[in-house]
Amino acid sequence: MEKLSKTSLNYYLSEYLEDLMRAGVKDFRRTPSQAAQTPSDESELPQPAAKPTPKPKREPDVQTTPELRVVAPQTKKVESPEDERAKALAEIAAQVAQCKFCPNLVANRTQTVFGSGDPYAELCFIGEGPGAEEDARGVPFVGRSGQLLTDMIEKGMKLKRESVFICNIVRCRPPQNRNPERQEADNCRPFLDATLDVVKPKYICCLGSIAATNLLKVDSPIGKLRGTVHDYNGAKVVCTYHPAYLLRNPPAKKQAWEDLQLLMREMGLLE
Ligand code: SF4
Repeated sequence: MEKLSKTSLNYYLSEYLEDLMRAGVKDFRRTPSQAAQTPSDESELPQPAAKPTPKPKREPDVQTTPELRVVAPQTKKVESPEDERAKALAEIAAQVAQCKFCPNLVANRTQTVFGSGDPYAELCFIGEGPGAEEDARGVPFVGRSGQLLTDMIEKGMKLKRESVFICNIVRCRPPQNRNPERQEADNCRPFLDATLDVVKPKYICCLGSIAATNLLKVDSPIGKLRGTVHDYNGAKVVCTYHPAYLLRNPPAKKQAWEDLQLLMREMGLLE
């Protein structure tokens, strides 16, 4: 047989391969039987082991579980309505602290006594003005009268004192614990109305005739205002004796208890 040169061999081989490809042969590496058993589609051939893909980094603000993908809530602090009311009351209290409308009261006060309690209280107690201890501490109803009021709220009505709001007709102590004058009460009225606008109590209990006549803008004595439910801008108002009067006249506590029972019935706390 004639010996072919390397160049000729390459030529004949490439011619032969082209003939095979034109005839439809695709796999030149195996015998025909092996080729028939293997898939013709290259994608079905065994693939080299896949390189492990690195786990995606967990996003810091996303919770990932197989079932659920929840975006975490914003971490920015959102002020609650309670915070807004407390803030509004603090702003009024700051104005009160600067107030000098009543020269006779300003000259004698240690500090103003704004009010205290739950900004969301359903029930608000209103007295007439701060006494010596309230003036010293800046908190309403903290002396002997305050202790009796606390007992009326907690032992009588079974409520927590912190759950109600307590304030006065005037926010500065009248000298020698005299009654506030009408002009002083009128001067301080915008602060009272603004406070009640923020707290929005459904029920108000006026403690004594100064509170009752000034809030309701009537001239009737407390004896006539008791026993009836009055209205202040949609809030139900019950009037009773001031705790200081009850300390001086203990028999009147029976009538005061009847007033509290009327209030409790209105509030749905008593049948
Ligand atoms: S009683 Fe009221 S109006 Fe008068 S000085 Fe005090 S805060 Fe002002």
